[in-house]
Amino acid sequence: MSAVASERIMRDRRPVQAPPLVVDERIMRDRRLLQVPPTVVEMLDADEQVALIARIKRLLVERDATLVAHYYTSPELQELAEATGGYVSDSLDMARFGTDCTSSTLVVAGVRFMGETAKILNPEKRVLMPDLQAECSLDLGCPADEFTAFCDQHPERTVVVYANTSAAVKARADWVVTSGIALDLVRHLAERGEKLIWAPDRHLGAYVQRETGVDMLLWSAACVVHEAFKADGLRKLRAAHPDAKVLVHPESPLDVIALADVVGSTTALVEAARNLPAHTFIVATDNGLFHKMKQVAPDKIFLEAPIAGKSATCVSCAHCPWMAMNGLRNLAQVLETGDNEIVIDAAIRERAALPIRRLLQFAQQRKQAVLGNNDA
Ligand code: SF4
Repeated sequence: MSAVASERIMRDRRPVQAPPLVVDERIMRDRRLLQVPPTVVEMLDADEQVALIARIKRLLVERDATLVAHYYTSPELQELAEATGGYVSDSLDMARFGTDCTSSTLVVAGVRFMGETAKILNPEKRVLMPDLQAECSLDLGCPADEFTAFCDQHPERTVVVYANTSAAVKARADWVVTSGIALDLVRHLAERGEKLIWAPDRHLGAYVQRETGVDMLLWSAACVVHEAFKADGLRKLRAAHPDAKVLVHPESPLDVIALADVVGSTTALVEAARNLPAHTFIVATDNGLFHKMKQVAPDKIFLEAPIAGKSATCVSCAHCPWMAMNGLRNLAQVLETGDNEIVIDAAIRERAALPIRRLLQFAQQRKQAVLGNNDA
């Protein structure tokens, strides 16, 4: 079954009767207030851009390095990765590509947990990132010490964490999951009679819980980009474009997901853009993904799903502030200096590899591609 076919077409489905949503309100209240930086996109004049690209290409060869970039990074970085034998995808697929490639150094243009996942799966390689301050609100919203204490209070529950978590949180988990395989894995665990802790994304957790009816205790973090999409605005935009298909990433709120034609991971949304016969799409995910969508479907029109507003109430403006920290300047810099290397304590790294490998094995057994987390 294709990735698109395996996605849930919401209008054709009756929701499973789910138990009431259980979110730990104590965590909701006490959660650290996240400091979300402004989204600052690198601006370069044409000459500087050309010079930087030439310098990066030379350094990639000299340093035996390969560039892997997430779909949400800038078009320049994505094109450079593909032009130099690197790769553009979602986080887990980026890490798996790193395993296959023979370079001794991986440069991960994305956010920190992606660099960590690449290092966990490729411990013998040097993993560099353009900016180690490139975080993720899901990762930041799930500190390892608080999460460990929470899990310890519920020892009877299986711990399932999303890929958008730190190495230390993964090390406390039984399973790592991506949005592309979350429903299958949760159903599989429920068939074995297991009750779950789900972290960190409360929206994705609520969606999975509603679709599967499984007993899940949800952590309460959220993606600052996807949480901002608004159902009211989406309804109006869809009314103005009645032939458009609505593509929604499941880190979005449930009332936005309810309006979707396709709910899916970044990779699944790209495949939907490529394969669905519609001409116009309304897309609720980071607008960095539009570059890949336009590449695979150049004749189609992609509209941004409405967010809180383009002025004071707009937190991220549909583009992740941490993803935007990746640029050509700091990429050239780390290749030059070797700075910003990802280092993970060996015990944590080895423990964190277990739930990731468990997921990969589960996916292989199901003969299903594990595509997409954010992916982030
Ligand atoms: S867009 Fe991705 S990396 Fe950025 S905050 Fe959301 S989940 Fe994290």
